[in-house]
This record gives sequence, structure tokens and C-alpha cells, in this order.
Amino acid sequence: MSRQSLPRQIVVLVIILVLVFGVALWVSILSIRSAMDRQAEAKSLALMEGRFEAIQEQVSLIASDYHNWTDVYEAANNLDYGELYSNYGITAVRADVFQYAQMLDGPFDAPVAWVAGSTREPQDGFLSRITIDAIRRQVPQLDYQSRETFDFFGMHSSRIVMFSASWLLPEDTFIVPDRVEGGLAIAVIGKIVSDRQLEQVEKQLGVTDLQVRDPDAEVQGVSLPLMDASDRPVALLTWTPPAPGTELFSRIRPIMIGATLAFAFFAFWAARQLLDRAAELAEKEAEAAILARTDPLTQLPNRLGLREHLASFSGPDLKRFAALCVDVDKFKHINDVAGHSGGDTYLKGIADRLRILADGETFVARHGGSEFFVIISGAEELEARVAAKTATLAQLCRTKITVNGYAFDIAIFKGLAFSELREQAYEEVLLRADRAMYLARARHTREVVRYDADMQAVDAFDTTLEKAMRSALASGIEFTLHYQPIVSGLGTGQVMRFEALARWNSRSLGRVSPVDFIRIAESSGLILPLGELLLDRAFEDLRRNPGMNISINVSPVQLMTPGFTEGLIGEVSRRRLDSSRIEVEVTEGVVILDNKSVAAALHELRSRGFSIALDDFGTGFSSIGYLASMPFNVLKIDRSFVSGEAAGHRTRTMVKSMIGLAHSLDMEIVAEGIETEEEAFTFRSYGCEMLQGYYFGRPRPLSEMSSFAQLEFDFEGSPRLARPASRRRARTPAAT
Ligand code: C2E
Ligand code: MG
Ligand code: MG
Repeated sequence: MSRQSLPRQIVVLVIILVLVFGVALWVSILSIRSAMDRQAEAKSLALMEGRFEAIQEQVSLIASDYHNWTDVYEAANNLDYGELYSNYGITAVRADVFQYAQMLDGPFDAPVAWVAGSTREPQDGFLSRITIDAIRRQVPQLDYQSRETFDFFGMHSSRIVMFSASWLLPEDTFIVPDRVEGGLAIAVIGKIVSDRQLEQVEKQLGVTDLQVRDPDAEVQGVSLPLMDASDRPVALLTWTPPAPGTELFSRIRPIMIGATLAFAFFAFWAARQLLDRAAELAEKEAEAAILARTDPLTQLPNRLGLREHLASFSGPDLKRFAALCVDVDKFKHINDVAGHSGGDTYLKGIADRLRILADGETFVARHGGSEFFVIISGAEELEARVAAKTATLAQLCRTKITVNGYAFDIAIFKGLAFSELREQAYEEVLLRADRAMYLARARHTREVVRYDADMQAVDAFDTTLEKAMRSALASGIEFTLHYQPIVSGLGTGQVMRFEALARWNSRSLGRVSPVDFIRIAESSGLILPLGELLLDRAFEDLRRNPGMNISINVSPVQLMTPGFTEGLIGEVSRRRLDSSRIEVEVTEGVVILDNKSVAAALHELRSRGFSIALDDFGTGFSSIGYLASMPFNVLKIDRSFVSGEAAGHRTRTMVKSMIGLAHSLDMEIVAEGIETEEEAFTFRSYGCEMLQGYYFGRPRPLSEMSSFAQLEFDFEGSPRLARPASRRRARTPAAT
């Protein structure tokens, strides 16, 4: 689910809810409206029916009154039209109670009738043949004793007329003889439903537009058919019933519309707010995610960004890639010269150049410090693309970076490693590139050093070595110390002290070079237990040989470990050893580290009377000037400046000036690696206080030191055993 989708879904849900709610509200209100209207309609129909029944009832009452009248009955039987008129027909002619009256059958040969506004003379009947037939069928079925009438509607002169028919009878119905000859007469009266009456009905029922319409008329709303004598609709009564629902609705509609609009507006506003917040949040999160993956100085992806980029390569479709590790040469020097802000500017300059390499398949990251990684991916022509990128990089590095007015060359070391086709942890590829870069640094080459089979073999060897060392350290017996004499370059060449050198005779690997196992011990952290073990041996040897002075090698890792110096000082005093008998040798790496705690540790040791020597001087990159700030009192010139072909004329000149400088800083000089008499002579002539090398003796176990006991060197000739030994005794160890 994307960052934005949850709030989006909530918004959609809210909108749907609002819509459903709104629609449901409207639908229910509209259905209430129509239910109310329907109810009112049904009610108005029922009322209308009732109303018309009541009106008909009135007519029926009038009819039963007039048609159960002995005078009229007899006048009819006697065919006395004058009497009939004055008692009966006149009512119709005057039209005050009813407007139509007709008599038929019985004594009448033909129907006689009176209608409103006619003369006293009876007229022909106004009822149709069909109506008369219906009357003739219905009237005989009436219960004449309870004065029943047959009621129906008819249309006359476009007016609706309510008719009521019954037998014409005397008041005392018991005398009625249907034995009357010729049978009984049927009398029919009709009363017009007046407009006033309709208006009254309208008013009483609360309806409008009450109309009498053609029976075939198309009617939309509510209607009531009025039936004729044959029970066929003769007219339709239509009206508009009251619509309380519609009325109520039309009253609340503005409020409803307003509320709906307000609600919709609010919902829309709330949704907008929610979306805006969500977008803001997502933006902030994205920003934070970018920040967490970006190096603030160079704006390149940082270690996390790099790790995530590489993690995307793993999985089922493993991507092949190359890692180019780039590190700045003498970055410390740049910081020293241009200040830390200058160092930052320099790094930015490097980052800007590396950024140019970045493309869809090339990723550049700052790994930390002055180390960068360029990751080139893609299965096709990877080698060729890597070559092109490194060529571009070399080109880019031709320009200088100007920092605080200083123009610095771009000096970088480059290590390259390719991922293998098998599933491989990407960290391993980075480590390999890093290893290759370190090799470039060690070789001091600006070329790209590629991690190859040889390095892989070394790595495998290192792993084996580390494993063996771990198990060997459990007992410690495989580790011993050998001692190599350091002799005086002045006077007779007596042995001044012995350098303690670690030896490992592994049960599984045989003799392992200290260069290898010290390196592995340093990188794996095993130097701490190993160092402790070796120091313990050395101090024990010192304790047993009171006349012996020693020089011990201490790794920067040890010096940087909190509590190491205190432990060492404590151990020396616990064994009641004189600290002036001990010299601590540290390599130039320490100086390059520029670690405050290391400097403090060395100062502490120096103040406690230990001698501090800078070992392998010349192999690192420290300047003599810098040494003044460190408490070194001895400088050991690396054997690469002393013996062999490397030590040519130019080197000698340099060495001479180095010695001069060190002397001016009150340092004593040890020339390491003296292998020949000539070298011994040369460095002695340079004023080196001490000399060390195979010429004077190889490192040996202390048990074999007896022959050294009386050793001193005659610089006039070959080394020889001094005789008598007692005359010029060197401070040599007693054989143990
Ligand atoms: P280093 O401290 O500079 O020790 C001198 C190295 O030069 C020793 O090598 C020694 O055997 C060798 N050497 C002495 N004279 C000559 C010579 O005339 N010609 C040649 N070709 N070599 C000579 P080694 O014993 O193999 O030690 C190598 C390095 O291992 C040492 O260099 C030191 O840095 C380190 N190391 C040895 N023991 C210890 C230790 O106990 N602790 C620590 N931290 N490092 C140690
Ligand atoms: Mg040494
Ligand atoms: Mg050395």
C-alpha cells in the first residue's frame, strides 16, 4: 500500500458515507412525502364516496317520501294529472327539491314526466329505454316495506343528476295490493348535483378542482366513477386531493437543500483537509526518507542509501554489478592545511566530479569519511561500461580543487570489485572493492586496482588464519617472542636493547609471518588478547633478566583501546620493572590516525619514563614537522631506506637530512635492516645512535641468546666476539 493510499481510501470512504447518508435522507423524505400524499388521496377518495352516498341518501329520502304518498298514488291510479301535478309534478317544475320527475308502468300507458321549468302538463319521459329497462329490473327487487329506493346517476343537459326510483305506493303500505290491476307505477325523481354542492364538497373535503368529466376521460390523479342504472359509469368525478406530504416537503425543501449543500460542502472541505494533511504528511515522510538516505555534506546518497540500492539487486533476478571504491589520499593533510571546512569543500569537489558519473545504471554514494562508492550495474557490457566510467573519472580528476585559496590535486585511490554470478552478499563486494582500494593505497598507485584471484586467495588465507589464531589464543602456547639486538652505532657497538618480535608456530599452518598475523589480529580485534599475552611474556623476560632492555611493538588498535595504557603502566609497576628499560614502538599509522586518545596515551607513557619510538619511519606519509607534536624520542628509519637497491644515492641524501632533522628534534635514530658491514658503516657515519639488522643478529628465542651475551661489534672490521668479554659488557640478557 502506498503512503498516500490509506488517507485516500479514508477520504473515499467518507465521501461514500456522506453520499449514502445524503441519498438515504432524501429518499426517505421523498418516500414519506409520497406516502403522506397517497394516504391523503385514499382518504379523500373514501370521503368523496361517503359524501356522494350521503347526497344520494338525501335524494333517496326525498324519493321515499314522495313515492309513499296515498294522494299521489291514487291520483296516478286515477290518471288524475291535475292532482298529480299539484302534489308531485310541481316540485320538479319548481325545481326547489328535485328537478326531474317521471312515472311509468302501472296505470300509465306511456311514461309521464315533469322537469324544472316545464308546464303543468306532463311531458314524455326523459329516461332512456336502457335506463327504464334497468329500473324495471331493479325496482321489483326493492324491499318496499322499508321504503327502499334504486339510486343511480345520469347526465342530463350536461349536468350530473342523482336519480332515485321506487314503486309508487300509498303511505300505508299494508294496503298495497299488487293485485292492483295493471300493476304498480314506478316513480323516479332526479336531483341535479349543483355547482354549489360541488363547491361545498370541495371545501368540506379540502380538495380542489372537483370536476365532473366524461367517463372515458384520461385521468391522472384520483377519480370516482358515477354509475348509471345499468351500473356503467356515466361520468367521472375528478379532483385534486390534498397533498400534505408535498406541502410539507415544499416547506422543508429549502432547508433540506441548504442542509445538503452545507453538508456536502463540509464533507468536501473535510475531505480536502484530510487529503492535504495526508499529502503533507506523505511529503514530510518522503523528505525524511530522503534525508535519512542523503549525506548532508555532499548531497550524495549515504551508506543507508547505498545499502538500499544494492539490496534492490538481490532476489530472484540477481543483477550483476561492479563496485568502485574511491578514497582520498592524504585527506588528513588537506584538513591540516585548509582546515576542516576546507576539507569539507574538497570532499564536495570530489562528490561533484563523481556525481557526473551517475546515470540510470550508475549509482554514486558517500560511504563515510573520504570514502565513496560508484556502483555500476547491468548485465550487458558491464566490463566495458566500468572501463568507460573509470576513464571518465580519471579525466575528471585532472582538474584541481581550490579550497580556501589552495589548489589541491585530486589524489584518489580506486579499488574495483565485481559481483559474482552466484548469489553473493553485496557487502562482500563492497568489502572487496575496499580491499582493492587499500591495496592501491599501499602500492601508492593512482590506477584502479581490481580485486582479483590473488586477493581472493589472500582473503581466504586471512579467514583461515583468523580462525586458527582464535583457537591458538585459547592456550597461547603457539605464540612466542624472539629478540633481535639493537646495537649502539657509537663507540664499540654494544647491544643497547632487544626488540621483542612475536612468533607464531601454528600447529595447523606452521610458521606464520608476523606481518600476516599481526595484520589479521589488528583487523579482527584479536590484537588485544594477543598483545596482552605477548606483553606478559616480555615483562616476564625482563623480570628474569635485570640487565636487559627491550623494545616492544604496540599496535594503534591497542593504543586506542580505553584502559590499555593504564593497564600497561599498572602491569609494569606491579612487576616492579623500571619503565626506562622499556621502549614502546608504534608505526606511522598512529600518526596518520591523528587520534587524540592515542596522542594522550603516548604522552602518558612518555611521562612515566617509557621511551617512545616511531617505527618504520618513511613508509607512512607523516612529515617530520608533525612528529614534534608527538612524544617520540626515538626514530626508527625503515629498512627500505637502509638496505638493498632502494637505498640509492638520492635516498641516502634524503635519509641524511631526515637524520639531521630528527636530531634537531632531540630524537635518537635507529637504522633498521642493516644487513651488511657497509650499511653498518654508512649509517654509523651518518650519526645513527643505534643500528639493527641481520648483520648484528637475527631475532632469536631468548634461550638461544647465550652467544649474544658477550657480543659487541668492532666497526673497524667484521663483527666478532669481544675479548675479553668482561671489559666492555653489553647489557645483554642472561640465557634462560
Ligand atoms: P618491525 O617492528 O619493524 O620489526 C622489524 C622487522 O624487521 C622484523 O620482522 C625483523 O625480523 C625484521 N628485520 C630485522 N632486521 C632485518 C634485516 O636486516 N633484514 C630484513 N629483511 N629484515 C629484518 P618480523 O619479525 O617479521 O616482524 C614484522 C613486523 O611485525 C614488525 O616490524 C612489527 O611491526 C610487527 N610485529 C612483530 N611482533 C609484534 C608484536 O609483538 N606486536 C606488534 N604490535 N607488532 C609486532
Ligand atoms: Mg618494531
Ligand atoms: Mg620496523
